[in-house]
This record gives sequence, structure tokens and C-alpha cells, in this order.
Amino acid sequence: MRLKKVKLDPEKQAQFIAQVKREQAQRQQGYREKALAILPHICARCGREFAGKDLRELTVHHKDVNPMNNPPDGSNWELLCTSCHDDEHQEGQRQDFYGGYATAGSQEESLGHNPFAGLKGLIKPESGESESE
Ligand SMILES: [Zn+2]
Ligand SMILES: [Zn+2]
Repeated sequence: MRLKKVKLDPEKQAQFIAQVKREQAQRQQGYREKALAILPHICARCGREFAGKDLRELTVHHKDVNPMNNPPDGSNWELLCTSCHDDEHQEGQRQDFYGGYATAGSQEESLGHNPFAGLKGLIKPESGESESE
């Protein structure tokens, strides 16, 4: 029986989570506003409509679960109410909610991984299969 708490103590963890949530909320605000501006204020899953202060419950889901992928045309966004958003991520992690922080410390990993893979296809559609290296 050795339950070593080598990591953060609960208090620090709570602080960390609070901070992450704040940062994430700030970051989310940018595309959230855009998403709300171009998408109908309806949960894409349950069809519930949102207006006024209820809008807070409407969250932006990234279809490819990549929070860095925010095309201005909204093609990667889906508005979901909080409970539907939870359902949507039941199997996976809420990566788009917690951003790269979910995998603490490996932010570069998610940076080098998803967005560039997506961009490549967008920018160079004709790059073919160049397996050069
Ligand atoms: Zn819903
Ligand atoms: Zn989501």
C-alpha cells in the first residue's frame, strides 16, 4: 500500500484547474464569439434553442476535436449545449474544452500534430504522396 502523491496536492491542483479554465475561457471567447455570430443558436444535437443569458450554456464543439483548428467559415464548429457536449465527448476526452492542457506539458505535441496536418491539406492540395525524407 503505497499511495504516493508525487504530483500536485489537491489545493494546487484546484488552483491549476481554475487557472486553466480561465485561460481556456479567454481563448475560447475568440472563436466562440465568431461561432455564435455565424451559426444558429441551436444545439446541433438536441435542437434546443438558446437566447439571452442561456447562451452561456451553448458551447463550441470542434468537429475534429482540435481546438486549434478554427477556420473562419466555421466549418469545424458545432454549437452544442453543455450536456450534449459532454455526451459528444463521452468516449474521448474533452480536448477542445481543455485544449492542450489536458495532456499537461505536451502542448507542443498537440501543436505540431493536429493543426499542421490540417493546414497542409488546405494550403497544398496537390502535394500528393511525397514520402520524401
Ligand atoms: Zn443539446
Ligand atoms: Zn467538443
